[in-house]
Amino acid sequence: MLATILAELPPTVRLVAVSKTQSPEKIMALYQQGQKIFGENKVQELTEKQEALPKDIEWHFIGHLQTNKVKYIAPFVHCIHSVDSLKLLQEIDRQAKKHERVIQCLLQFHVAEEETKFGLNLKEAEELLQAPDFQLFKNANIAGVMGMATFTDDPGQVRREFRQLKNIFDTLKKKHYEEQPQFREISMGMSGDYKIAVEEASTMVRIGTALFGGR
Ligand SMILES: *Cc1c(COP(=O)(O)O)cnc(C)c1O
Repeated sequence: MLATILAELPPTVRLVAVSKTQSPEKIMALYQQGQKIFGENKVQELTEKQEALPKDIEWHFIGHLQTNKVKYIAPFVHCIHSVDSLKLLQEIDRQAKKHERVIQCLLQFHVAEEETKFGLNLKEAEELLQAPDFQLFKNANIAGVMGMATFTDDPGQVRREFRQLKNIFDTLKKKHYEEQPQFREISMGMSGDYKIAVEEASTMVRIGTALFGGR
């Protein structure tokens, strides 16, 4: 499955293999085929796997993150896809500084119709980026945006939601990050919709079941 999916992705799009609930053995099988980026959505599961697995794995956190748990993943996490408040960003910056690291952060946006999904809207993101505190952060780098489309059979709706995220990215890029290459990621696309996401300018797809089979 890995080779099939990689063959479908343009070389500019990175694959985050979503390994939540999957065993270390299954992760190792993909690692041995060359996959080095893995994504998890629970802090404890992530720290256990990080300890048990090769140290050159690039770990991404893709779930809802509580401020008081940032400290457990700050020593090693490469990218947090789910930043949705200034408070969380502040704590990521503080913990990353302790470990003399820079943690890549993506602002999570609510673009789906579903009520249950976490995430910011454009106005909230603008407020965050204009907050005086934010300007001081050196160890939490805003690297782009992340979003999830509605879980639906309607590909037109999914495409509209991905397009909305791309528009948000373009707006923020223009207003806050023009000529700043570190703001570049659009994390969108899962097993059921990554082909549409890639067509709509995703730079990072997060794929679980299509790679590992069911959970
Ligand atoms: C589980 C999960 C994925 C992967 O979902 P699949 O449908 O298994 O590919 C992607 N993104 C997030 C945020 C997830 O929680």
